[in-house]
Amino acid sequence: MAAVKNTAKTFKLNSGDSVPGIGLGTWQSKPGQVEKAVEAALRAGYRHIDTAFAYGNEKEVGEGIRASGVPREDIWLTTKLDNPWHKRVAEGIDQSLKNLGTSYVDLYLMHWPCSLDPDHEGKAYADWDFVDTWREMQKLIGTGKVRNIGVSNFGIKNLEKLLNDPSCKIVPAVNQIELHPGNPSPKLVAYNKAHGIHTSGYSPLGSSDSPLYSNETINAIAKAKSRTPQQILLVWGLQKGWSVLPKTVTTSRVEANYDLDGWSLSDDEVAKIDAIPDRFKVCQDGWLPVTVFYGDDE
Ligand code: NAP
Repeated sequence: MAAVKNTAKTFKLNSGDSVPGIGLGTWQSKPGQVEKAVEAALRAGYRHIDTAFAYGNEKEVGEGIRASGVPREDIWLTTKLDNPWHKRVAEGIDQSLKNLGTSYVDLYLMHWPCSLDPDHEGKAYADWDFVDTWREMQKLIGTGKVRNIGVSNFGIKNLEKLLNDPSCKIVPAVNQIELHPGNPSPKLVAYNKAHGIHTSGYSPLGSSDSPLYSNETINAIAKAKSRTPQQILLVWGLQKGWSVLPKTVTTSRVEANYDLDGWSLSDDEVAKIDAIPDRFKVCQDGWLPVTVFYGDDE
């Protein structure tokens, strides 16, 4: 059997582009730390970086990319439109490109299906929602500033509203959602797939202070394979068919999380992880003035 190369795994999008299966996450990666992490990741072999305007670190992410010496065209770069920018999509991408110091991103995501009025903190617009935002995002294709557009934190109800609207001419290339054994969302993953939308998994390790690191099933599999719990979680995600976006600002962990080649999980091991009963969700939508998930992200 040919050696398994998990780090070389890519997923084909409905646009025809292919996204690398593993990308470095940068949420809560502070300026001062994130540049080093991005540089270390690219030097270790990662070719996919996930950031967002809302993370406040696009500038340093761009600096990390340049410090790595890896050519920009070899890197898949994702950033996201922030909620208070929904009526200013053209300005939003220009601001992100300026921050990142690049002329294009590979993927521009609507961060949340929630259009906030920047003049009234925490209030949603009465005359604008994510369907209007998507209409504007579609105009970015062809400008050379974005290669693909997609969404994030969309459950089935919101995806149906978007896809059924007559103004929707481009099916999102990606839906980036929370995915780990504590929140495996099989119905939403299946919905994405049925509609040609690639699923990208955020918080693949269970985020900060992850309860998954002490999970018995994960640890037993890790021990049996002489792997870390984090490596098991990442390969599980890749084998389930989604891209994974592990975040770390620790160089040794950047490298360990990319040490995924030459082994895989058996069907039985995948099934055991699928059957972990404990549920938890890192990113609830209670902090937003609109409902995002309607129990349809299961
Ligand atoms: P995560 O990647 O699941 O977990 C990150 C945490 O795990 C950090 O505390 C990190 O610590 C630790 N860690 C990483 N590798 C480790 C290792 N090998 N051993 C021990 N600990 C390790 O969490 P996340 O940041 O929530 O999610 C990942 C990415 O998904 C984000 O960074 C972001 O890019 C994206 N995301 C998107 C959304 C969205 O709304 N679209 C929401 C959440 C996340 P250190 O950094 O201290 O090393």
